[in-house]
Amino acid sequence: MKAIVDQEACTGCGLCEQTCPEVFEMDGDKAKVMVEFVPDGSRDCAVQAADECPASAISIEE
Ligand code: SF4
Repeated sequence: MKAIVDQEACTGCGLCEQTCPEVFEMDGDKAKVMVEFVPDGSRDCAVQAADECPASAISIEE
């Protein structure tokens, strides 16, 4: 599984970092994905972060 943050859409709210800090990290006023592949133990929170992103900026690829 891969997670991708659309840098254009991200508003920098920080919610994804709070929800899934193993995968998402704030980099200035945008979120970035820290891992090339989402570890198995972080899949649920990565999906949750994508679902809850207020800007719908996170996409998940299997
Ligand atoms: S939850 Fe969405 S809008 Fe907020 S920082 Fe993360 S990617 Fe950006």
